[in-house]
Amino acid sequence: MDSYDLLVIGGGINGAGIARDAAGRGLKVLLCEKDDLAAHTSSASTKLIHGGLRYLEYHEFGLVRKALQEREVLLDAAPHIMWPLRFVMPHDAEQRPAWLIRCGLFLYDHLARRKRLAGSQRVRFDRHPAGAALKSRYHQGFVYSDGWVNDARLVVLNAMDAAERGASIFTRTACVAARRSGDDWICTLQNGCGQREVRARALVNAAGPWVQQLLGGVIHAPARKAIRLVKGSHIIVNKLFEHPFAYIFQNPDKRIIFAIPYEQDFTLIGTTDVDFHGDANQVAIDGDEVAYLCAMSNRYFERQITPADVVASYSGVRPLLDDEHGDASGVTRDYALELDRDGAPLLSVFGGKITTYRKLAEQVVDQLAPLLGNTRPSWTAGSHLPGGDLPAGDFDAFLAALQRDKPWLPATLAARLARAYGSSVYALLGSADSLAALGAEIQPGLYEAELRYLVDKEWATTAEDILWRRSKLRLHLPAGADAVVEAWLAAYHTSRNADSKTLLRAS
Ligand SMILES: Cc1cc2nc3c(=O)[nH]c(=O)nc-3n(C[C@H](O)[C@H](O)[C@H](O)COP(=O)(O)OP(=O)(O)OC[C@H]3O[C@@H](n4cnc5c(N)ncnc54)[C@H](O)[C@@H]3O)c2cc1C
Repeated sequence: MDSYDLLVIGGGINGAGIARDAAGRGLKVLLCEKDDLAAHTSSASTKLIHGGLRYLEYHEFGLVRKALQEREVLLDAAPHIMWPLRFVMPHDAEQRPAWLIRCGLFLYDHLARRKRLAGSQRVRFDRHPAGAALKSRYHQGFVYSDGWVNDARLVVLNAMDAAERGASIFTRTACVAARRSGDDWICTLQNGCGQREVRARALVNAAGPWVQQLLGGVIHAPARKAIRLVKGSHIIVNKLFEHPFAYIFQNPDKRIIFAIPYEQDFTLIGTTDVDFHGDANQVAIDGDEVAYLCAMSNRYFERQITPADVVASYSGVRPLLDDEHGDASGVTRDYALELDRDGAPLLSVFGGKITTYRKLAEQVVDQLAPLLGNTRPSWTAGSHLPGGDLPAGDFDAFLAALQRDKPWLPATLAARLARAYGSSVYALLGSADSLAALGAEIQPGLYEAELRYLVDKEWATTAEDILWRRSKLRLHLPAGADAVVEAWLAAYHTSRNADSKTLLRAS
């Protein structure tokens, strides 16, 4: 039976971040994820690295400060998938008073040190590029900074870094049983090929929406905290504006909605907050949510949309730490860690945000590592994620250098690959010196070299993994792209199996 220091259950942002931090401190780590990396909540977020302006209203100053401090740490770690974003907040007399917003933005600007992010300002829409798309009743507003993140790729990059530091990453592998035996855990893992047992000195339950289910049904350990599942959905429509600013809209119900420039051609609108009691594996937007998001967009934008304009949507379930708040949107976004030392250590993660995942992971490993005789210091605050070591963190200069090095790469492809892979684009391109050397063009702009990289280095196994989570190519490709990619994957797996049989015969 294989033995590990740490078994992390769950390949969302929290599990991947914990595996990375622990592997970097020299622990022998195994991460198991029952589906794909980021298959659930961690690919369904609004994709903001933010302090959460509205949480100030709930007096969550500690959470907002922690999140604001993390913004610049994360932006430095992977500038290809995370970057500063300016938010425009239209204002009129029906909303929170202007003095209150100014106070909130002053706090937001000053609660944590800022290096790359500009401060807030008041704007008039007759003089600001974001004004043209808005209804004429909005004359003024505010602009402030937060960050944008490609959430699913952030998870993959954490898993890649963990693997580069020695961790084993098993996707499509569920933990179906766990019991204490002497000083260890014996855990049963199950994938498409069957079951196997592994031994681990400590266990992390980072199962997100399944954290309580895992405690009750698999680990059989008590939970002293509870989570509240709150569904959030987004719609994607053809772009409603041409400039790079995002909007934050205040609703009469006091909720806020974002409208964000997305994937060059689209606008991403979300989110909702709906208490969820179903199966977290099957979560989808419903008609009321679509209507609500369209109505919110129509309240502010000149261009009106209907449900027929929605080109795609996605939904996720927030695993929120239950603070018994009456209103789903008011439940805390902070997290709690529960350490059970009744035998071999078990640490469960309740709640959290993408923005605070690195800090959360650091705190988890700070608690667990000494119990395993490891006293190495935390290390992730100043470290790049794979592909994130762009000279001076300057994405535009990096892209210009890539285009000089590989003049045969079409400009749009170079830009897409640089954004997705950062400096790892050179590993993906290998020694290719022409477009033809990247292999067949499986779909417009999608070459075999990229598909091979995603399968071999990023644990992709299905068209959904490739066209939705690791890229958003599905939004840009013709219908039927999934079937073409599935056929390529099947052929690639067959050829790889044949290669390994030939190697076995030769050895
Ligand atoms: C609509 C919405 C918008 C959001 N917007 C933002 C935002 O803009 N900014 C921000 O910072 N945060 C945001 N969040 C919050 C953030 O997305 C979540 O806090 C975060 O993704 C939770 O990550 P996780 O790793 O805990 O859970 P998950 O990503 O769900 O990961 C848990 C994983 O555990 C796996 N698992 C469960 N049981 C087992 C088992 N038995 N064996 C193996 N694997 C198992 C699951 O398959 C799953 O992949 C948003 C959330 C939602 C829903």
